[in-house]
Amino acid sequence: MDLIIRHAHLRGQEGTRDIGIIGDRISVVVEQLTELAPTEVDAAGNLVMPTYVNGHIHLDKCHLQDIMRPNKDYTFTECLELTWEHKARYTVEGILERADRAIEEGILNGTTAFRAFADVDSIGTLRGLKGLLALRERWRDMVHIEVVAFPQEGIIRDPGTSDLMEEAMRLGADVVGGLPWFEMLDEDARTHIDFCFELAKRYDKDIHMLVDDTDNPLSRSLEYLAVKAIREGYQGRVSASHCGALAAYNEVHAHKVMDLLKQANISISSNPHISLVVQGRYDLEPIRRGITRVKQLWRHGVNVFSSQDDVADPFYPFGRNDQQEVVSYICHTAHMAAPSEIEAAFDFVTYNAARALRLPEYGLEPGCKADLNVLAAPTVRQVLRLQQPPRCVVRNGKVLARNQLQREFMSR
Ligand SMILES: [Zn+2]
Repeated sequence: MDLIIRHAHLRGQEGTRDIGIIGDRISVVVEQLTELAPTEVDAAGNLVMPTYVNGHIHLDKCHLQDIMRPNKDYTFTECLELTWEHKARYTVEGILERADRAIEEGILNGTTAFRAFADVDSIGTLRGLKGLLALRERWRDMVHIEVVAFPQEGIIRDPGTSDLMEEAMRLGADVVGGLPWFEMLDEDARTHIDFCFELAKRYDKDIHMLVDDTDNPLSRSLEYLAVKAIREGYQGRVSASHCGALAAYNEVHAHKVMDLLKQANISISSNPHISLVVQGRYDLEPIRRGITRVKQLWRHGVNVFSSQDDVADPFYPFGRNDQQEVVSYICHTAHMAAPSEIEAAFDFVTYNAARALRLPEYGLEPGCKADLNVLAAPTVRQVLRLQQPPRCVVRNGKVLARNQLQREFMSR
């Protein structure tokens, strides 16, 4: 063995296990390994899980909060406009400096896979994309970064973007993004979705769109996205983030859409902390939470995942690139606080997110990639209660990061 993690508690199992790792793979998981390895980590009965997967993050915009004009009301329009003056001047070096900080923080918090959205539009043209492609190369040996070509200003309403999207795919973007609900007409939203599928099929890439990110029940691009995925044979290759409008539909229509999502095998990312800040801004009281039907979708058998989305950018002033914090927000906003629901919420940032990104060999079985977090508590409930970062982050069979918590109580 090259690395052994000892006394690991695994979800759903009694007692502890030793995890033996050879190279970048898990080799054995047994009650006790008698042999020794050059590197050993004592989990001391704490939980060991596969590393977190962040399936939706804007790394071109991260940390703009430090240098931008302050927000006044956090409407979607304001957040969008605050980005314009910065993305028109993005440089590869500037993006790398800000995004490196976010990636480092993400790793320390236990995440080793990121799906990064790069704005592609007439304002920033391909500046954001080129920055994130450089970021992907810089971190290639350490973490998984995939880049989404994301038309943040729309495609039909922002002339020239369709050509830029095509160029983005030629330059090496991994995923075709989309923002259909932001188009000015329903028919434009459909044209937007049609364009993205045509592009994705030509480059044989997956699709991840931000869909119906509004409390408006008339925003209905999600059902068209699902039907399109079925008709184009793209089941299992499409993700949709936010989908707040689904929560505003009547029950009959919502169930029709959820059936379609299941049939299309579309994964849904709910990023509740962002929605709490940006949605419900036109509500008086009671103010909606702005999230989609997380618990209903989960119970319906739809693959739900959850992501950091923003780190200190025009859309969100906080964010530690911390998927444990994201799970905590899910548990609170989606009313998922019972033991089985907390377990499910942890799947949203691990197994379900890995399934959405179609990451191979993800898990704790022998043969899986040795990408593991040794957490700071023995159960998922305690991990959320304490909100401490993983003690140890293993990636490709090597210790990539460690966290030590020192707290001292001074006697009176
Ligand atoms: Zn986003």
